[in-house]
Amino acid sequence: MLRFLGRGSAFTDEHNSAYFIRNDELVLIDCPMSSFMRLNDKNMAMFDHVYVLVTHTHGDHVGGIGMLIDLLEFTVKTPITIVAPSKDVEADLFYLISRIEGCSSSWYDLISVEDLDKDWFVCSIPTSHTEELAGKCYGYCLNIDGNNVVYTGDTNTLIPFEKYLKKDTYFYCEMSAYKSPVHLYCTDMADRIKEMVDSGIHVYLMHMDDEKRILQVMEDTGAELAPLELGGATMEDNGRMLSGIFDITNSLYRDMCMNDSKDHNLLFSYLTGLSKTIVDADRASFWKWDKRKGQIWTMSATGVDKIVIPDDTGLVGKALRLQETIITNDPYNDPDFNREIDAQTGYKTKSILVLPVADVNGNFIGALQLINKNDEHGFDDETDPKKLSLAALVCGIALESETFLEDSHHDKLTGLKNRMGFYYDFGNRYKDYLIPASGKVMSLFICDIDKFKNVNDTYGHNAGDDVLRFTAQLLESFCAEKDGVYRWGGEEFIMIMRDTGLEGAVKKAEEIRTKLMESEFEADGNTLKCTMSFGCAVFEPSKTIEENVSAADEKLYTAKETGRNKVCWE
Ligand code: GH3
Ligand code: MG
Ligand code: MG
Repeated sequence: MLRFLGRGSAFTDEHNSAYFIRNDELVLIDCPMSSFMRLNDKNMAMFDHVYVLVTHTHGDHVGGIGMLIDLLEFTVKTPITIVAPSKDVEADLFYLISRIEGCSSSWYDLISVEDLDKDWFVCSIPTSHTEELAGKCYGYCLNIDGNNVVYTGDTNTLIPFEKYLKKDTYFYCEMSAYKSPVHLYCTDMADRIKEMVDSGIHVYLMHMDDEKRILQVMEDTGAELAPLELGGATMEDNGRMLSGIFDITNSLYRDMCMNDSKDHNLLFSYLTGLSKTIVDADRASFWKWDKRKGQIWTMSATGVDKIVIPDDTGLVGKALRLQETIITNDPYNDPDFNREIDAQTGYKTKSILVLPVADVNGNFIGALQLINKNDEHGFDDETDPKKLSLAALVCGIALESETFLEDSHHDKLTGLKNRMGFYYDFGNRYKDYLIPASGKVMSLFICDIDKFKNVNDTYGHNAGDDVLRFTAQLLESFCAEKDGVYRWGGEEFIMIMRDTGLEGAVKKAEEIRTKLMESEFEADGNTLKCTMSFGCAVFEPSKTIEENVSAADEKLYTAKETGRNKVCWE
């Protein structure tokens, strides 16, 4: 409910002063000199009116009021009303502000609570503090957004406040580590405070002379420290956010480093989650720019399935095109904004931040996108990209490394997976089929283009390459989603077929053999035909991968020996 510019007493370096903002009006409770200094760092022009509720006239509660009046009068001209808790205190304040501080009465309004007509004000609560200010010390009862809020100010008793405290009240209570007649001594108060918390009152401690000692005494009461503001966010907000960030980085470290994860997707999903937490956004996604296909798609996205869009479209496309961070807090008025995605997902985008990411050579390869910050102001073009920079950098490196890994598993000429991809898949997709007695069945064939050397010799190497490409495409077109086809080397290919016995493998090989035999295709300007020989085998989990390939290879040898363009099997 309330935020504090300081929750220390006059004996510490932070002076007690709380505030809330309502309808663009700032309501301060007390204003010591240190609070004035903090307010002076802020843009006071953003408020339509400033109210200062005074609890009593000790210097550590009113010492900054004169300066605040001067500041507003001579800079931003924001009207200010000083509110005294009683007529008596109003008279003292008038003496202080006009006679001592020398402020003209035209620079401010001074009223007492009897004349305060605000929906957030309930009453001032007379209490006792030093004898010298007897009858002139007050606390306040407020109603902030329908919540009952009680503020003690300085007091040596809880009694006047008790009748205002009920379940769900926000109770801001002064507390002292030193026993004296003028403050609430924490050791004496701990039991009562615990009772309050147990009965559903939110108790916050303020005006503390020694925060550490008070915390020790109050440890088991359930009372909390009054929330300090810190550059717009509160300490608690920042603490919560930091611990959220550490939780994610810890999981990331454990899953990526300790559990031997070989999956970049896990990294991307953690990093997008991290980015979302860091800037407190609603959604985050990481996009890969596939320049070959002319597309950008989400490697990872919160709340939605994979989205694929043409590159150079949308705000991600714009960020990659301009090679710069894009921030818009009014996307529907940005011609580059892709409304289609909102239409598809049914999600209303109010603000977007896109950070393009590059590989080590500085080529842009992807982008981090954040949507809708969890406050009404949208993204900040200075602080938010800075906060996201590390996650974006790691995303860039991870994407580059993933692209390298992908490339190293593929054969440039045919686009099929190569031998490295073959072994990688055995460690992943086919892993379960390697366990003896798993009950899982898998088959393979190895095939080799017949008399391929003749093609090279007769039509040239380029024609040979075209034959390889055509054959690879044909094999791929026969390869089911659950299966895999690989360029084993030269003009030899392997197909792995999961959940398929020998009969199915032979049938598949026979289909491909027939189709190839009947096909005519272009190869470097020549119309060619060719044939292939096949050797099939059932994968035997008790043998090594190499032994299994050899078993199929023996059958391929038989096919070659017995006339080529045929399928042989175990
Ligand atoms: P066989 O029916 O017994 O398999 O006869 P073959 O001529 O197909 O077999 P051989 O092993 O004698 O020749 C294979 C040829 O494939 C030799 C090699 O130069 C060629 N080759 C291997 N890789 C490539 C490639 O990437 N492009 C081209 N154009 N030729 C390749
Ligand atoms: Mg051959
Ligand atoms: Mg060969």
